[in-house]
Amino acid sequence: MIQLEHITQTYTDPSGNTFQALKDVSLEIEDGEIFGIIGRSGAGKSTLVRCINLLNRPSEGRVIVNEHDLTALPESELREVRRSIGMIFQHFNLLSSRTVYQNVALPLELVGTPKDVIDKKIRPLIELVGLTEHVDKYPSQLSGGQKQRVGIARALANDPKVLLSDEATSALDPETTVATLALLQKINRELGVTIVLITHEMNVVKQICNRVAVMNKGEIVERGNVIDIFARP
Ligand code: ADP
Ligand code: ADP
Repeated sequence: MIQLEHITQTYTDPSGNTFQALKDVSLEIEDGEIFGIIGRSGAGKSTLVRCINLLNRPSEGRVIVNEHDLTALPESELREVRRSIGMIFQHFNLLSSRTVYQNVALPLELVGTPKDVIDKKIRPLIELVGLTEHVDKYPSQLSGGQKQRVGIARALANDPKVLLSDEATSALDPETTVATLALLQKINRELGVTIVLITHEMNVVKQICNRVAVMNKGEIVERGNVIDIFARP
């Protein structure tokens, strides 16, 4: 379980003015769910989700993942934690000079995994995301949906229990969005990965999320089951 307790994030600009991107936000996410965080641009969604892997260190509050207080850990131990939490992005963040195979292999290479172990690990992942026939292509040779599939496979390379998705479908057309969300759903179901998904699109939340939090101006203004919050047709 992920517990965000009384998270406040204060930013100070060069002239010393402070701005509160998050104001005393608390949130619990259960193992195995697909949790949506929806809200307008600037609402604080990214800042909040980046607290889960401590890419953002909150100014105040605690981040507890599986009973471990991450906010109490030194930076050296956080690297281990970050590795156990996968992340995917709106603009995919792939390395353009590396093939599909090499992009997916990267997280394992970085920790010195032997090549044969890497190969055994990532071939099934590349298969899972449906890119086996594109394994030697470069990102520039792929469609947006295919690039995001590379991002998803790479995020799974370290067997994460949690996958953070920051507007991962926002750069994709509606049809590709539906297919990408179906893939995330399959990963949640078959691998048991908890997914925390940021979006500004109601349809994304309606397609795959169990529960949702609505953010506005650094606060959660509503939360609950998707069915209860957004009346379905
Ligand atoms: P969202 O993901 O909902 O679009 P963000 O979490 O990215 O919102 O940003 C929330 C607010 O915090 C925005 O007003 C943004 O400009 C501000 N912000 C985000 N990161 C920083 C930063 N590193 N320094 C200063 N302000 C920031
Ligand atoms: P770098 O030098 O940037 O690490 P390499 O070209 O050495 O990149 O590739 C990294 C590793 O991945 C190498 O061991 C390479 O043999 C292996 N590799 C790359 N593409 C494939 C592929 N399609 N099938 C099997 N192994 C591959």
